[in-house]
Amino acid sequence: MPRTAAATHCPYCALQCAMTLTPVAPVAGVASDASAAPVTVAGRDFPTNRGGLCRKGWTSAELLRSPGRLTAPLVRGDDGELHEASWDDALDLVATRLRGIRSSHGADAVGVFGGGGLTNEKAYLLGKFARLALGTSRIDYNGRYCMSSAAAAGNRAFGVDRGLPFPLEDLDDADTILLLGTNVGETMPPFIGHLAGAQAAGGLVVVDPRRTATAKLTDEGRGLHIQPVPGTDLPLLLGLIHLVIAERLIDVDYVEQRTVGFDAVRRSVAQWWPERVQSVTGVAALTLRRLARRLAAGGGTYILTGRGVEQHVDGTDTATAAINLALLLGLPGRAGSGYGTLTGQGNGQGGREHGQKCDQLPGYRKITDPAARAHVAGVWGVDPDVIPGPGVPAVELLHSLGRPDGVRALMVHGSNLVVSSPNVAAVREGLARLDLLVVCDFFLSETGALADVVLPITQWAEEEGTMTSLEGRVIRRRRALTPPDGVRDELWVLAELARRLDCTATFDTDPEQVFDELRRASEGGIADYSGIDYAMLDRGEAAYWPYPRGGSGTPRLFADRFAHDDGLARLVAVSVRGSARPRPGSGELELITGRLLEHYQSGAQTRRVPELLEARPEALATMHPATALRLGIADGALVELANRNGTVRCRARLSTDVRPDAVFLPFHYGDVQAANLLIGDAVDPISSMPEFKTGVVRVTPLDPI
Ligand code: SF4
Repeated sequence: MPRTAAATHCPYCALQCAMTLTPVAPVAGVASDASAAPVTVAGRDFPTNRGGLCRKGWTSAELLRSPGRLTAPLVRGDDGELHEASWDDALDLVATRLRGIRSSHGADAVGVFGGGGLTNEKAYLLGKFARLALGTSRIDYNGRYCMSSAAAAGNRAFGVDRGLPFPLEDLDDADTILLLGTNVGETMPPFIGHLAGAQAAGGLVVVDPRRTATAKLTDEGRGLHIQPVPGTDLPLLLGLIHLVIAERLIDVDYVEQRTVGFDAVRRSVAQWWPERVQSVTGVAALTLRRLARRLAAGGGTYILTGRGVEQHVDGTDTATAAINLALLLGLPGRAGSGYGTLTGQGNGQGGREHGQKCDQLPGYRKITDPAARAHVAGVWGVDPDVIPGPGVPAVELLHSLGRPDGVRALMVHGSNLVVSSPNVAAVREGLARLDLLVVCDFFLSETGALADVVLPITQWAEEEGTMTSLEGRVIRRRRALTPPDGVRDELWVLAELARRLDCTATFDTDPEQVFDELRRASEGGIADYSGIDYAMLDRGEAAYWPYPRGGSGTPRLFADRFAHDDGLARLVAVSVRGSARPRPGSGELELITGRLLEHYQSGAQTRRVPELLEARPEALATMHPATALRLGIADGALVELANRNGTVRCRARLSTDVRPDAVFLPFHYGDVQAANLLIGDAVDPISSMPEFKTGVVRVTPLDPI
């Protein structure tokens, strides 16, 4: 075990708080506790977290020797149970089955599902493995559930998708920050230090149907909380655009010189006068006017979006409307102002740049672009024709599981599909239809428990690599301790499987060598990493992409031009599609799903940390006391939430933080408490983002008062 402290970053969210892990030295004469954390965690000074960590970060070392840690491959036997097996036996079995399925049903009968928590090196090698070793186009990842709408909107407007096109510290001097659908107060608490300037100026504006921890930061004159009807973010933004145009608040020079598309946008918002917006969103016309004037008042102004406005069937258009508003105010690229979207998963940014998306090659290149294919094929040492064409996005891929002409074998890396996917009941059925399910994980997640083969892999503190934070800054993940016996790095797993599948392409297992190959593959692409290397990261250089070879990094984008060929941003007219989302009928409530401070994503990791589980042991359906009284529900009572997609059973929690017409359910739990049992198959037609954030549900007490 290394005995020196390792400067690394948190295993969880995209803020990637810096931390120092120090191995715990054994005490002479004292028997060591096998389940005790083998490292201590200390916050480390870094521009994003300034030494702070949230509760998840402080307790993250508990994961390393958790009793549920997998330390041997598991293979399902004839008795239907998972049994320990040797690595050779498990990998031989996987390779043999993959070969058989491929030869019987074609290469696209094998699918790969990646994750936004994988290091850049793993995400890159997984995309290469799918296309070269498996020859399949069927690869996508859970970032489809997270960032796809924001990414589609950013690409459409700016020609590039980098969550924050500026360092987080830039927010410190802002006078006004508009947060749309993001609860950083719970999801990434150290972030709120960057909101202090806007709070002091009375300019923190939070749009959220719930009175969240973030919304409460606006109390006592520090800003404004706007609580619209769930799912009405798009009309709200169209109304704000209407107002800034009608009241001549737009930055005319900026719009003329740096954008195209104004006339179409002006026409598209003509009908969204404030009183109409009020009738749809419930937000007072006076409040809208106040907000529009505040945003246009000058000084440092930022507009930031999160999953609350993006995880919808109109998520791309809603994010586009937020961008339109920012462009009309002249914010993107202006010093001290800007627009951004807050990436959620640990490597949600890097995870969408290196080729694990169905339509993408490394460097954020389009897989259909002949020049991109030729470049990447050159790095991989193959003919461009060998690289399959575009695959299908995550939800479509999952729909095809076990179907004729669909995916019959699935490899899952860094995802817990039966908790985090929409319509999880259908996903479970699809997984059961498969001929082969292989899951790489460090715990037996709900998805791993259904697998034919489970391969135990290293955790963050046991591996080297890089991540790309929500700022587009590439940072180093460093090894603090030796992995337990029996555990392997995913790079090694992919290389071993590629060899067994007779793939002649190179699959390095050393992260630095993989990163060097990634750099070459990304060179000249949108997300160009070619000028970044481990040595400069280890020296502490702040490396923001694009960072071309021999050049320098780009902390701030858009100062002079946008990434479209003509350098101009696109104002894109969007509209409300009437039937996009069902509205509650009599006796029904709006369902809002979301996150808790104590848990991360599907909870597969955080539900194993005793302190976090004790604090939030179960899903609670939070509703307004008046609603509960009407429905005959007491605080703590068992309730059933049901709609045409499924049923959830959990306890009720009463709070005035939720509107009387809504119920909030966190999505970190599995089985009968899985919020995504209530989420259907509808997706955004542009980004394929599922409608996660709102729905219609009927709530019934199981033990009425
Ligand atoms: Fe980790 Fe995110 Fe918490 Fe920071 S805010 S400690 S990165 S979970």
